[in-house]
Amino acid sequence: PFRDLPSLVAEHARQRPQATALVVGAQRLSYAALDALADRVAAGLQRDGLQPGERVAVCATSSPAYVAVFLGTLRAGGAVAPLAPSSTADQLVGMAVDADARRFFLDAGVAEALAAAGVAVPADLPVTRLEALDTWLPPEGTQPTPVAIDPAWPFNLIYSSGTTGTPKGIVQSHGMRWGHILRAAMSGYAPDCVTLIATPLYSNTTLVSVIPTLAWGGCVILMPKFDALAYLQTAERERVTHTMLVPVQYQRLMARPEFDSFDLGSYRMKFCTSAPFHADLKADVLKRWPGGLTEYYGMTEGGGTCMLQAHLHPTKLHTVGQPADGHDIRLIDEQGRVVAKGEAGEVVGRSPAMMTGYHKQPAKTAEAEWYDGDGNRFIRTGDIGRFDADGFLVLFDRRKDMVISGGFNIYPSDLEAVLRQHPAVADCAVVGVPSAEWGETPVAYVVRRDGASASEEDIRGWMNSQVGKTQRLSGLRFTDELPRSAIGKVLKRELREAWR
Ligand code: ATP
Ligand code: MG
Repeated sequence: PFRDLPSLVAEHARQRPQATALVVGAQRLSYAALDALADRVAAGLQRDGLQPGERVAVCATSSPAYVAVFLGTLRAGGAVAPLAPSSTADQLVGMAVDADARRFFLDAGVAEALAAAGVAVPADLPVTRLEALDTWLPPEGTQPTPVAIDPAWPFNLIYSSGTTGTPKGIVQSHGMRWGHILRAAMSGYAPDCVTLIATPLYSNTTLVSVIPTLAWGGCVILMPKFDALAYLQTAERERVTHTMLVPVQYQRLMARPEFDSFDLGSYRMKFCTSAPFHADLKADVLKRWPGGLTEYYGMTEGGGTCMLQAHLHPTKLHTVGQPADGHDIRLIDEQGRVVAKGEAGEVVGRSPAMMTGYHKQPAKTAEAEWYDGDGNRFIRTGDIGRFDADGFLVLFDRRKDMVISGGFNIYPSDLEAVLRQHPAVADCAVVGVPSAEWGETPVAYVVRRDGASASEEDIRGWMNSQVGKTQRLSGLRFTDELPRSAIGKVLKRELREAWR
């Protein structure tokens, strides 16, 4: 039977009031304390007239107040629109308005950024500063009017990462979140689990770990800012059992010279999602970091989730695994027809946990849907993949990142895999840029390894001797760092623009 997150938290608060629910820096909150704070937030929102189904926007770095506002909004029947502090001031206000938020909670950092940009929150959208939450909250002990939460009600309105364009508001329901919570039990989330997270709270990547940990009565540790050494120290000190990290965070952790001196024996399961996770890096994690490693491939919209339990399939590290339980994945061509077995196509997926749709964007929602012959609704991912003979999905690129050069389809990920073999290459990204001769042509940005002396021309020359004629790079430039989003996705849009 369906359970909602706030009532699960209330249950833990009754059964194990002193158990730690949340740790952020030096602040530790028990289940009793978190639950009481969520009650006051819910009561405050109800006092101000919030109706079930209405949205509350939050934009801040991770803090106990943020988590309490999240839970309190849900408890009052509202839905949360967690916004990315890394957005521009205009985008931020745009999203809060798009979400029809009834209240906007933000912290000092965001308030300063808005002021610096000279952007004001519209007068009809009341703002509460998280640092001054106490002055807005009703008195301690205030109880909200109980609300019976329906699984079809919106839980959150998450704006997609905006990797490929303007972020879209994705509506996820309480029922969808309950699906994530149930699935997480199979990964060992339990009352004794300690989950360490260093990605921002607005991202689904973070929420798919934080929500199940709280739902099952475990402890969540949030790092407002990722720092590899601090992460390792915290992991050892707090005897961390679970974590969700994005690939670039794994990369930074494994590159720390002190990595092997930490005792990470308490880990049971590590998760990864959100961007390509290279096979060599997965192998390194398996070798040097105790506990299992599960990679998820999916998107905030839900649907096409694949899962790779890397510790069980060490020969499949170049794949993103197989469709997760209850998930159905198809590959389709440009005309929307299912491709022949073994062929590449766009990944479309269907599951019990799919978005309701894009907020106020029926046309965009329709564009993202695909229906099979039986009328079953699938969601398009925009990613190109191919199933291997054992049914493991090999992912290439986003359709928008594919380079069409002289009529040939070039997958940047293929070229990146070759480039990565060069001893001087620490990191790289291949993008297509306009070419008078070929329409489009591939070029590369390379982050050179410390101490390496190979020149741009050396690496490009080597590269072009490794690949077929149609795949040759027209250019290669060094860069100190690849542009990434706040959750570590390489922003190829920016690289294409920078090339000009
Ligand atoms: P937008 O839709 O606004 O462009 P986004 O697609 O980056 O943003 P998310 O929903 O956060 O927003 O990300 C989903 C995408 O992330 C997938 O479509 C896929 O391209 C990529 N992705 C997720 N997991 C993996 C993975 N394990 N390996 C490779 N890519 C992944
Ligand atoms: Mg997307």
